[in-house]
Amino acid sequence: MKLIDLHADTLTALYYDPAINGVAQEFTGQSTFHRLDKNTLHIDLEKLRQADSLAQFFVLWLNYKKCEEHGITAWQLFTKQYNELINQLNKHPEQISLVTNLAEIEENQKQNKLSAFACVEEGAFITEISQLRNVKKMGISYITLVWNYETHIGVPSAIDQTRGLKQFGFDMVEEMQKTGIMADVSHLSDQGVADVLSISKKPIIASHSNARVLCSHTRNLPDNLIKEIATQGGIIGVNCVPHFLKDNNIDIKYDYLIQHLQHIYQLAGIDCLAIGNDFDGFKIKPNSTNEINTIVDLPILADKLIQSGFNQTQVEQIFYKNSLRVIKEILG
Ligand SMILES: [Zn+2]
Repeated sequence: MKLIDLHADTLTALYYDPAINGVAQEFTGQSTFHRLDKNTLHIDLEKLRQADSLAQFFVLWLNYKKCEEHGITAWQLFTKQYNELINQLNKHPEQISLVTNLAEIEENQKQNKLSAFACVEEGAFITEISQLRNVKKMGISYITLVWNYETHIGVPSAIDQTRGLKQFGFDMVEEMQKTGIMADVSHLSDQGVADVLSISKKPIIASHSNARVLCSHTRNLPDNLIKEIATQGGIIGVNCVPHFLKDNNIDIKYDYLIQHLQHIYQLAGIDCLAIGNDFDGFKIKPNSTNEINTIVDLPILADKLIQSGFNQTQVEQIFYKNSLRVIKEILG
């Protein structure tokens, strides 16, 4: 089963050096510890092949507050990480390349190459709306509007669900949709998601969020917002993070993922379902009760979805076709 995974922090993990792990060193960008082709992370090129990846969204995660502490701008950190991403991809030109639309995925498929989308998790690197045009030219496909800090864009779910987008955030979403950059509402407060939906003229994505009714974490989406995202043609990438799957949980089990997919399906239909694992954005502690340890374990989810009552067409939608539809509609 082909797979489009909407969210992975692997390239940020390659950029930061876990061997050093000191705050100051985090911004040197001189990690030699990991390689994209083969590493000990949740994702590498070999693992993407094994998972039958059609396209992988790699985010550049920007720690906005640490940028301030270290006297660099989030834009500077963005360009450093972007260059690192391009360097990493350029080391393996026969195996993978950056894509920005559907035709490029199809071209890579013909050449038996993997496809990588580049995205940014933390919108605050944008301080002037005109920067969005450069970001589009660089091939950035989506921007997660906020991470866990309140910024000039808006308020995250981690801080206050009742305060949403700020004026700059509204302006940014409008311009992103004009320019052809997907707006990602994962991490945004409930009010913020409602604000994006209120002005949105295109489908939006929640790249890595689950259903709050099944797991009470503030990062998960309440039913009313799941329904509205679906009504407007958007997609929700169900993720693997243990504490987003189930309260008081440390394991990633296929059943937990299936429960979230079933709930969202029953509530909002099949067309909004997608996968956004958040691999390499959290630690997995291998133990005997954990079922998913890397992206290589994802194909089994497809089999288990069939066993639990989804049909082949529906599983294809969840694994990649719904994502392809939104990619085509927004990125072309
Ligand atoms: Zn995240």
